[in-house]
Amino acid sequence: MSERPPLATRVAQTARTRLCPHCKATILESANVCPGCRHHLKFDPAAAQRQSETRTALRIEGSIQGPSPAEPCEYCVVIAIRDDHGREVGRHVVGVGAMRPGERRSFTLSVDVVPPPGPKPLKRE
Ligand SMILES: [Zn+2]
Repeated sequence: MSERPPLATRVAQTARTRLCPHCKATILESANVCPGCRHHLKFDPAAAQRQSETRTALRIEGSIQGPSPAEPCEYCVVIAIRDDHGREVGRHVVGVGAMRPGERRSFTLSVDVVPPPGPKPLKRE
């Protein structure tokens, strides 16, 4: 038998989402700006305040170069999200493409952390 976790924990484990009307990406319901296509979606002062408290918790950049002088190659960009037990909770193919010998592609992965909607949770003593 398991007890229900405290509210702050439940909020942290769920995210209310919707589809961006412009690019159809799944985004946070509270987003003012789509992180995918960067279209402005609505103006909500509370959401704007949360947006201003958003911080980038992880950012990784890197680039690869096509084999030279070998054959052209194809690539596939995959992102996997795991919980703190290592279980995969999401896996997405973000993009695919091809490179000619000597060509270069750069990739940036970023994870933005947004405060939860609604009143701020009480601080634990
Ligand atoms: Zn969008």
